[in-house]
Amino acid sequence: MEHERTDSIGQRGVAVLGSTGSVGAQALEVVSSLGWPVAALTARRNDALLEQQARKYRPRAVALADESAARACKLRLRDMNIQVLAGERGVEECAAMEAGIVLNGIVGIAGLRPSVAALRAGSRLALANKESLVAGGGLVMRLTKEQNMPIIPVDSEHSAIFQCMQGLRKSEVSRVILTASGGAFYGKTREELSRVTVEDALRHPTWSMGAKITVDCATMFNKGLEVIEAAWLFNLPPERIDVLVHRQSIVHSLVECSDGAVLAQLGTADMHLPIQYALTYPARARRLSERLNLAAAGTLTFELPDDAAFPAIRLCRRAHAMGGLAGATLNAANEAANALFRAGKLGFLELTELVAKALEDTPKGPADSLESIFAADQAAREFVEGVAASHPYQ
Ligand code: MG
Repeated sequence: MEHERTDSIGQRGVAVLGSTGSVGAQALEVVSSLGWPVAALTARRNDALLEQQARKYRPRAVALADESAARACKLRLRDMNIQVLAGERGVEECAAMEAGIVLNGIVGIAGLRPSVAALRAGSRLALANKESLVAGGGLVMRLTKEQNMPIIPVDSEHSAIFQCMQGLRKSEVSRVILTASGGAFYGKTREELSRVTVEDALRHPTWSMGAKITVDCATMFNKGLEVIEAAWLFNLPPERIDVLVHRQSIVHSLVECSDGAVLAQLGTADMHLPIQYALTYPARARRLSERLNLAAAGTLTFELPDDAAFPAIRLCRRAHAMGGLAGATLNAANEAANALFRAGKLGFLELTELVAKALEDTPKGPADSLESIFAADQAAREFVEGVAASHPYQ
């Protein structure tokens, strides 16, 4: 019965936003294994890969945020009956198309408008874009209430929590515990961190992901952003969201119940499962990833994060407590500083320091409109780029 209901949502088509990225490409494999049609695909600028995906999955429309890439894609697909849209507007149009489910795998604040468009169109939003919630959580969650459409998390930790919460009442959840791999620089001192390189930061111990999020794992901003994401998704104060470093990435997160029982979701470090569950919820489909072999894993370890060496989680908690435009400011400052670090224009420790400075410069006012959120986003980027330009690195 449940599977039938989910299948009928899926048969209305799935729009995959950010389809050329890591989560997007895996989402297409999952959609295809379920036998569901692909309604739309979007990418930032990879027109060659988008063309391949469009020929394989035959969506009604595709969009590229980059206008010249969109022109190139239009030429590539001129023999196909597929609408090619251009610019962020085009991506938004794809998000608003008639589809059963919109899976948002866009990286960064570029995912916010499409999230809003999908919810306004009444589609189920399977959300991998945590930045939508960090910067625009109030706005996005208000929309889910108005539309009576829940967001189904794709982020592995939030999927784990969401899975553990099935069958629990809100009052029966006393806290959630997010697990963190610890990233590429686990165990390093600040002195050691002052000498690390971009290549070092891009070597993630357990997960294979895009460059921005892999650097976010190294700084621990990824986990801080996930605390804010969990606070919005599950309507919990950050004091009830703990973080534990779990190097093996097998326990994806935990929920502590009112009676003290602790529930966890375990699995291999493979995004196919959280993606699939977000699409088929509340039903479960057949296994796509490798089976978890606990005996082979052997020992599972848990420890508190080192907040002195990695202040990012604390900074994110502070941003959430500040409210207003602090989430948008923190997110934009982190995106800008992360990009500068990847370009070799900022040191690893300076990255977090610069985000902290930008946060203290948060503009006043509520984050109740896309306009105010994007104005704060722009201001934070300019602040970070200005400081970095006036203090050249190396
Ligand atoms: Mg995650």
